[in-house]
Amino acid sequence: MHTKKVDIIIIGGGLSGIYAAFLLAAKKKSLVLLEARSRVGGRILSPEHQGFFADLGPSWYWPMVNPKVNALIQTLGLKGYSQFETGLGRFQAKDGHAETIAGYPMNPPGWRLAGGMISLVKGLCAQIPKDIIRLNHPVCEIQRRDNGVQVIVGRHDQEPRCQLQASRIILALPPRLAAGSILFTPDLSYTLTQAMLKASTWMAGHAKFFALYDKANWRKIGLSGQGFSLCGPLGEIHDGSCEVNTPYGLTGFVGIPALRRKNRESMIQAILTQLILLYGQQAGQPVSIDYQDWAKEEFTATEYDQRAVHNHPEFHPPSGKTSIWDGRFHFAGTETADHLGGYLEGALSSAERAVSKTI
Ligand SMILES: Cc1cc2nc3c(=O)[nH]c(=O)nc-3n(C[C@H](O)[C@H](O)[C@H](O)COP(=O)(O)OP(=O)(O)OC[C@H]3O[C@@H](n4cnc5c(N)ncnc54)[C@H](O)[C@@H]3O)c2cc1C
Repeated sequence: MHTKKVDIIIIGGGLSGIYAAFLLAAKKKSLVLLEARSRVGGRILSPEHQGFFADLGPSWYWPMVNPKVNALIQTLGLKGYSQFETGLGRFQAKDGHAETIAGYPMNPPGWRLAGGMISLVKGLCAQIPKDIIRLNHPVCEIQRRDNGVQVIVGRHDQEPRCQLQASRIILALPPRLAAGSILFTPDLSYTLTQAMLKASTWMAGHAKFFALYDKANWRKIGLSGQGFSLCGPLGEIHDGSCEVNTPYGLTGFVGIPALRRKNRESMIQAILTQLILLYGQQAGQPVSIDYQDWAKEEFTATEYDQRAVHNHPEFHPPSGKTSIWDGRFHFAGTETADHLGGYLEGALSSAERAVSKTI
């Protein structure tokens, strides 16, 4: 099998890996980014509907506390707008009974990105030479070598597809997913493997819904689109509209744990029934619907992510290690960040840390 050699291999084409590639490409490093899926973005996913991008992964950044995201938005010439929160909220009790309540403004205020969160990834990719990013390249083995690292691409139940060698690698995927799906030679220590498995992948167990409309009737009757429900299917709902004019949107997080969720069609039907109850008949007739169950995504979630995580965990580099194998192997990915791990901000800071150690 032919072995390609580069200075640096980045594994994972989510925001963290793509940002690392952008920083390294600017330094003219010889590098390759291996992405398992047929698309970049990882947990950032924004399908297009006639020029509007419905965020099924992250939709907010918080300008007051996300300096790196702010700076990247500026660098890429993108535009944010504040989450629409004008009006009253809706609350649904455990027994299904709904009532109108005061709104709960986000604190700190949350902002959406015009063009969807995927515009961050698109903007970065536009500045990375095309031959660097290899889609459909799942890494299944990583081996330490005397003078670097060897990476095997393929699936464990098939013949390896190709192998690559580099002086250093940046592992830019959730540590739990890496520990559960990639073979490491020599073995990672027991302590490190356990720390990786225990770092839950933020939002991996969640499912998100997005409905688009020509009109926002909820706004006309004084509602902000914000809703909270103790019975579901959606547990939390927000206005997901475009900054100005159409399309208007209602979007929300499914409140039912992954283990108890039904199939896509049943979930969508139940969600539309809930939206009619909360926002009126028109809410049951969207012009488009998107539904994404992240717990079913093999390149995001593991079996450990199927149980609900209620509080935001404290993330750190696994077992306190930002790199191993005498500097040949560096951790990136938001779950390895020391500050705001789990969020987009942590994806950027962990990439900056890894890149600073490889140049
Ligand atoms: C529903 C949802 C809502 C969210 N809301 C917000 C929000 O509002 N604000 C916010 O800041 N954050 C939010 N987040 C979190 C945010 O999405 C993440 O912090 C960020 O996208 C993580 O980027 P990453 O590159 O570290 O990881 P990922 O995006 O998970 O990227 C990892 C990449 O590695 C790839 N990969 C996996 N296995 C392999 C392999 N073996 N070989 C090669 N490639 C592999 C994956 O396909 C993926 O592209 C949300 C997430 C979800 C799911």
